[in-house]
Amino acid sequence: MVVNSKSLADVVRDVGGSLITEDFNSVSEVYAVVYDDGANDYNFKKIVKPRGSRCDPHRHSGYSNEVIGSTTTRLLNVRESYAKVSKVLDRSKKDGMDFFALQDHNTIDGYLDLYKYSMQHGMDKTFLSCEYDVKVSEGKTVHVGVWGLDYPAGSGRISIKEVDLVHESLMKLRKQGIDQFRRGCDSMGLISVLNHPPWLSTPARPLTGEEFSHICDVFDYLEINGDSQKENLFTLEVALEKGKILVGGSDLHNLRKSNAFTETIYPVGSAREYLDEVRKGLVAVGSCSRMPKSIKHADALSVLRTKFNGTRSDFYDNIYRGMGGYLMHEWGLRKVGFLGAFTGLGAAGYFIYPPLLALPFVAFAWLSFAFPIRYGMAERAAVKKRTEALYGEYQDYRLRKAIGLLPEMGGDDRAKEVLRLEELIGEKKRNFDAINFKKGTRWWEVLASKLMPWGTFEPNYDFSILLHRDK
Ligand SMILES: [Zn+2]
Ligand SMILES: [Zn+2]
Repeated sequence: MVVNSKSLADVVRDVGGSLITEDFNSVSEVYAVVYDDGANDYNFKKIVKPRGSRCDPHRHSGYSNEVIGSTTTRLLNVRESYAKVSKVLDRSKKDGMDFFALQDHNTIDGYLDLYKYSMQHGMDKTFLSCEYDVKVSEGKTVHVGVWGLDYPAGSGRISIKEVDLVHESLMKLRKQGIDQFRRGCDSMGLISVLNHPPWLSTPARPLTGEEFSHICDVFDYLEINGDSQKENLFTLEVALEKGKILVGGSDLHNLRKSNAFTETIYPVGSAREYLDEVRKGLVAVGSCSRMPKSIKHADALSVLRTKFNGTRSDFYDNIYRGMGGYLMHEWGLRKVGFLGAFTGLGAAGYFIYPPLLALPFVAFAWLSFAFPIRYGMAERAAVKKRTEALYGEYQDYRLRKAIGLLPEMGGDDRAKEVLRLEELIGEKKRNFDAINFKKGTRWWEVLASKLMPWGTFEPNYDFSILLHRDK
């Protein structure tokens, strides 16, 4: 089915500018989220259209060099990223992106490298972004992605010196608070995106439900992040509730395949035009995660569920590359010393009791394989728990607000209504906690999808409950 641009634009308007794409690289299919007035869930319309222009706006490089804030990572001096800028951008190109961006953390030091890359691959193919820690309240921050620091609205690419000034003022504004930060971005003509909204950058001081609601109100764009599925569902729900525009970014700190990107509805020719389309909200979220073409869901949420998770092998690959980068950069001579000590220990052990020789190898294997995997999984589990806790806080806040708005009613009616609302929110929270995502597509699923004549999998979770909208 070919749809002319007018009806596509109508759909975009219907959904408040947010579309979700399912990407199979050769064909571009757009799933529009359309609210069905008669029911409590969302219907999805599929439109085949020419492929828009793609960019993964949220990739970090080694310039994101802050030490990761857990006890272990601080002790071992583990930095956020060890990836080279040119490698990061090459990876984006390999993933089929048309435009290339860098989004380091509180720094634009990678800009010269990005500029160098632009000179080789086209000056109009890149733009600079930056992810800022922005203050919400005392001791609490959130991550805000500012896109196109070098392309403010209505202008061509500004000079490096001007970009530096823009960054400097944003570094000051981020300490004042999110409202001031958003206003600053607007006055400079910059796009500001609330990155991975439910993810807490200050987990020791979680946001309250009210604070979370406020940060989502402040920004027009919410990011679907390549990182955690449960956060994405939460984000999706809030975006639908509050009428926000969804954009996608992988948030990769390594050289993995982009598992989330932002695609324009209509193809464009330059980075400036790409950013203009984002400003108009004519964008969709896409993913490069591998998925057999025959697996299709009539439900965009299940697309999110199955396509943004990455696979188990991706996860391991991620850990080993990260470990490699870490050992190369943070250890150097120390590594040689430690390896020597291990070997010496084994040799000494051998003379006491020969099987002891295996000990250093076991210890080394544990440190380099089992430990990072366990660490990564524990971190994922902690994020999931925190997301559930924040979801609960947010729903409780909405409940308090709804009760506050109840009109005076006679007799027990008010109490009954309060009870009904409490039950409704309670059920929502239980449903959210109960969601468990699979680690990725399994081999037998791929095989089954090839064998099944209709090639369809039913989602194993009913998302419509989640999307219940209070009337
Ligand atoms: Zn972030
Ligand atoms: Zn990030």
